[in-house]
Amino acid sequence: MKKIEIFEQAMIVGNYDVVVCGGGPAGFIAAIAAARGGASVAIVEQYGFLGGMATAGLVAPISRFNLKGRRMIGGIPWEFIERLKEMGGAIVENPPGNISFMPEKYKLIAQRLVLEAGVDLYFHCYLTGCLKKDNEITHIIFHTKEGMQSITGRYFIDCTGDADLAWYADVPMQPKSNPLQPASLCFCLGGVDTAKLPLAHHNLDTTNMHDVSIQNVLNELREKEGIPLFGGPWYSSMIEEGYLAVNMTRFSGDMTKVTDMTNAECTLHEDVFRMVELLKEHVDAFKNAFLVTTAPQVGIRETRRIKGAYILTGQDYVEGRRFPDAISRGCHPIDIHHADNTRQNVTFLEKSPYIPYRTLYVPAYPNLLVPGRCFSADETASASVRVQASVMGLGQAAGTSAALCVKDNCSVDDVNVESLREKLISMGAILD
Ligand SMILES: Cc1cc2nc3c(=O)[nH]c(=O)nc-3n(C[C@H](O)[C@H](O)[C@H](O)COP(=O)(O)OP(=O)(O)OC[C@H]3O[C@@H](n4cnc5c(N)ncnc54)[C@H](O)[C@@H]3O)c2cc1C
Repeated sequence: MKKIEIFEQAMIVGNYDVVVCGGGPAGFIAAIAAARGGASVAIVEQYGFLGGMATAGLVAPISRFNLKGRRMIGGIPWEFIERLKEMGGAIVENPPGNISFMPEKYKLIAQRLVLEAGVDLYFHCYLTGCLKKDNEITHIIFHTKEGMQSITGRYFIDCTGDADLAWYADVPMQPKSNPLQPASLCFCLGGVDTAKLPLAHHNLDTTNMHDVSIQNVLNELREKEGIPLFGGPWYSSMIEEGYLAVNMTRFSGDMTKVTDMTNAECTLHEDVFRMVELLKEHVDAFKNAFLVTTAPQVGIRETRRIKGAYILTGQDYVEGRRFPDAISRGCHPIDIHHADNTRQNVTFLEKSPYIPYRTLYVPAYPNLLVPGRCFSADETASASVRVQASVMGLGQAAGTSAALCVKDNCSVDDVNVESLREKLISMGAILD
């Protein structure tokens, strides 16, 4: 492939203590935590709303806050759920503490919390690079309708899910899983007889919530008619009567590659229509269903993961290994979707695992934190922590740490871990 050289100047439009790239579940919580810790904070986000996979991917429910009925993730993530619930935008499904929600109310509450904390938002800004002095990031670069722009900062938090900022900064990455977990285009249906679908509520503790009866129908059709690849199906109440978020399409590929991403979008838009037809025709609860919308983008389960100061292993995780620098905990099962068939491996946890702070930064990168699904864990541990409540917990820790670093003028690996943990506990995080 040929390369061309381009030279463009970028307008510097802001200067902050903490710059958060990506406003998904990890990112908007990180920004609130940093701003409440006294830092000036900006979020740079490619869409015109917050929520990441929850709103741009229509991924539901928010999984999960509890293990064996005890809440394991608290603080700002739970405050967000309470605010969403107050507005009628969420149902807490106990004992697992899964959250069914309305994406539009999610966007609004996330935005209100972020703005109330004093965070500046830069929407419709696509991160395309960064400048560094040695390994210290000095500027991020993003594309806008006004051309290329830049923000300077003292600390940067990469919450892009795909570790885009870390990748631009040449941070060492772990080898990618082979194959990666599949991508799925989720969609919203109306006109569903949800009373006939008890699994629309995710209130069972140690049961995988896919609909086996529909899976059997689809498997039979797949053998007879060669229908598209699918998983689950999983679906979740969208609170309003008859509305359901559905997760069942599957595409195998690397969603950091333009060609794979384009093929995934094209294939899965076709597949959604076919799946809706099949559900209407073969499953009574869906006979009057109609497609309200597909998600703005294909849902991405797995891409890059940084090679941090510590790589959390599946064994650490399942054994509930304790770490002196634990900054959050997990509770979701280890949840691995097969790329080329309908299957999924699910391992329910006996103990709530601990997540060490060292998984959020990389040695010799003094001002970068990377929470969210691209944090430093192996394939197994990350297959649990990648879910929304868990990444919110990581975001809270990263934002809180960044604010402490601002105050102490130290690098992210030099932060006083005891103060960080004390601060997190005072905010409501559950670390014991
Ligand atoms: C099909 C599917 C089903 C899932 N099911 C569940 C489930 O049932 N329950 C659950 O809790 N979790 C589920 N997950 C996992 C979960 O949704 C994600 O792992 C989680 O949202 C990751 O959060 P994050 O903040 O790290 O990244 P994301 O949610 O991906 O957010 C990243 C944010 O960064 C922005 N961004 C990315 N790149 C750039 C860029 N270059 N410039 C500017 N902005 C950028 C994005 O627009 C987005 O807002 C599922 C995921 C998928 C794909």
